[in-house]
Amino acid sequence: MTSQSDSTEPGNDLLIHVCPHCKTTHDMAAQITDGPTDPPLSGDISMCAECGMLSIFDDVLALRVMTTEEEDEVLSYPEIIKARFLWEAVRRDDVWQLENEDDTE
Ligand SMILES: [Zn+2]
Repeated sequence: MTSQSDSTEPGNDLLIHVCPHCKTTHDMAAQITDGPTDPPLSGDISMCAECGMLSIFDDVLALRVMTTEEEDEVLSYPEIIKARFLWEAVRRDDVWQLENEDDTE
């Protein structure tokens, strides 16, 4: 599985892919599970750092929307649950910081 990025990993910074949900172009991906650290493979799952939606790398390493069956399966993976929880926590923190900045006036 991949999501947002770590440009120190060789090869990963050359992968350009577009989120099929929000159309954000990503030029990096980072693996969040144990295993080889090479660029993503066909069938690997991606979570968009911009919108938090899940997609899957196809045969030419473009991202596509998952089928309902694929999504039902991966939503039970502990790594996916943790990644989505962290993404949502970061988003909430952004909102919290903006609210606090408004309070200081
Ligand atoms: Zn997205």
